[in-house]
Amino acid sequence: MTSSVRLTGIESPVPTGLFIGGQWRAASSGATFDVLDPADGSLLAQVADGTTDDVTAAVDAASAALPGFAATPPRQRSEMLRRAFQILTDRAEEFARLMSLENGKALPDAKAELTYAAEFFRWFAEEAVRIDGDYRVAPAGGTRTVVTHQPVGVCLLVTPWNFPAAMLTRKLGPAIAAGCTSVVKPAEDTPLTALLLAQVLAEAGVPDGVVNVVPTMDAEEVVATAMADPRLRKISFTGSTEVGKILLKQAADQVLVSSMELGGNAPFVVCDDADLDAAVDGAMLAKMRNGGEACTAANRFYVQAPVAEAFAGKLAERMAAMTSGRGTDEGVTLGPLVNEETVAKVDRIVTGTVDAGARVLTGGTRPQGPGFFYPPTVLVDVPEGAPALTEETFGPVAPITTFDTDEQALALANATPFGLVAYVYTGDLARGLRLAEALESGMVGLNRGVVSDPAAPFGGVKQSGLGREGGHEGIGEYLTTKYVSFPL
Ligand code: ADP
Repeated sequence: MTSSVRLTGIESPVPTGLFIGGQWRAASSGATFDVLDPADGSLLAQVADGTTDDVTAAVDAASAALPGFAATPPRQRSEMLRRAFQILTDRAEEFARLMSLENGKALPDAKAELTYAAEFFRWFAEEAVRIDGDYRVAPAGGTRTVVTHQPVGVCLLVTPWNFPAAMLTRKLGPAIAAGCTSVVKPAEDTPLTALLLAQVLAEAGVPDGVVNVVPTMDAEEVVATAMADPRLRKISFTGSTEVGKILLKQAADQVLVSSMELGGNAPFVVCDDADLDAAVDGAMLAKMRNGGEACTAANRFYVQAPVAEAFAGKLAERMAAMTSGRGTDEGVTLGPLVNEETVAKVDRIVTGTVDAGARVLTGGTRPQGPGFFYPPTVLVDVPEGAPALTEETFGPVAPITTFDTDEQALALANATPFGLVAYVYTGDLARGLRLAEALESGMVGLNRGVVSDPAAPFGGVKQSGLGREGGHEGIGEYLTTKYVSFPL
C-alpha cells in the first residue's frame, strides 16, 4: 500500500496508513478502502482498512503511553496543544482544502471549520493548567479531605464525517489537556483529515502512543473490540442516535465513562416581532452552514402567521441565490453532500414531504449528472408529521410551517425525542428568554443562527446526548474525581 497521497492544491503528502504508537503502518490484513471525491464520485485516496487486531494494537499503545502522559506536567501538555493550534492555523488553507476534497463542503465552510477546530486546541491548552482540586475540613472537624482530578485513562473517540477536524479536536483537545491517551476511529468517508491531524499533533510534540488513529470500513467490529477491551475507560462518540444507543449498551458492560453527542432536530422559531432580515440571515447560517450537514442545522422552521409569507419569500430568494458546485471551486457556497446515501435520504425526505402536501418554493429536485448534489430547497405549507419535520434531514432543505401563539410554538418545537439546539428570533428579549427557558434543548440561539463556540458547553438533552464538549465542562468529561481522607 502507499503510505501517503498527493492531492491537488495540498502542498504536503497526506498520510494514508494507520497511526499506532507513533508509527505509520499498513493494516494487519494489508487491505485498504477507497475515499471518494463527493463532487464526482472519483477516487481520492486509498486508506489502510484497520482490523480488530489493529485496534487492539492501538489500545496497547495508548495503554502503554498512559502512565507517562498522565504524569506529564500540565504546562507541557498545554504547550503541545498551543503548538498544535499554531500549526493548524498556519496550515489552515491546506486543511480546509483537504476537508473540502473528502467531505465536499464549500471552501468557506471548510475554512470556518478549521478556525473552529483549531480553537479547541487553544481553549484546552488554556484549560490544561487550570485543573483544580480543593482541601476540605470535615463538618465534625478532625478529618480533612483533599479532592483531586485525575485523567480518566484510555479513551476511544469515534467521530462523524460532517466536521472531520472540529469533531475530533473537541475530543482530542480535552483528552490531551487532561492527560488521557486515545484511540481515534474517524468516519469512513473522511479519514484523511484525522490522519493529517495526527501528524500535526506528533509534530507539536505529543508523545508516541498518546494519539492513535485507526480508520476502518468495519466500524461495527473494530469499535466493539475496543469497547470490550478491559483497558478502555471512556467512549466519546459523535454521530447518530441509533449508533449512540448501540455504544451505550456496549459501554454498560465495562461501565465506561460515556460522552454522546447524537442527532438533533432543531426548531427555528420566528416571532412576529422579530427583525425579519436578521432572522433570514440567522436562518441562512443555521440551515446552510456546512450545506445543512450539521447536527445543529435548523431542521424545522416555525414562523408566526403574520410574517410567515414574507419570511419564506426572503429565505427562498437567498437560498436560490447560492452557488452550487465542487467545494474547492472559487465562488462556490454549496458543495455536494458527502455520499450517495446522504443525497438519496434528502431526496426521499423532500419527495415524501411534497407527497404529504407541501409546496416547493425553490429547489426540490435532485439534479442529473455525477456527484452527490442537492439544490437549496424551501418547502411551505408543510403538514404536521411530514418527514422533513420528523426526520433529521442533514441537507439543504428548509420546511416552513406557521404558528399563532407562543404556547403552540413551544408545543410544536418540543414534540420530538431530540433536544440538541433550538433557535428563536424575537424583538422582545423577555419573550425570547421565556421561550429559551421552555425549549427542551441543551442550547438555544437567541437572535443568533449559530451557537457553536469552543468556550461554551456544547451538548444536548433527551435523545440528543450525554455530556458536554467545550467550555470548562469539556475537560471534566476526561477527568475523574478522587479524594484522600485523613485525620489531623
Ligand atoms: P452518520 O449517520 O452521520 O454517518 P453514524 O452514527 O452512522 O453517523 O456514524 C458516526 C460514526 O460511528 C462513524 O465513525 C461510523 O463509522 C461509526 N459507526 C457506525 N456504525 C457503527 C457501529 N455499529 N458501531 C460502532 N461505530 C459505528
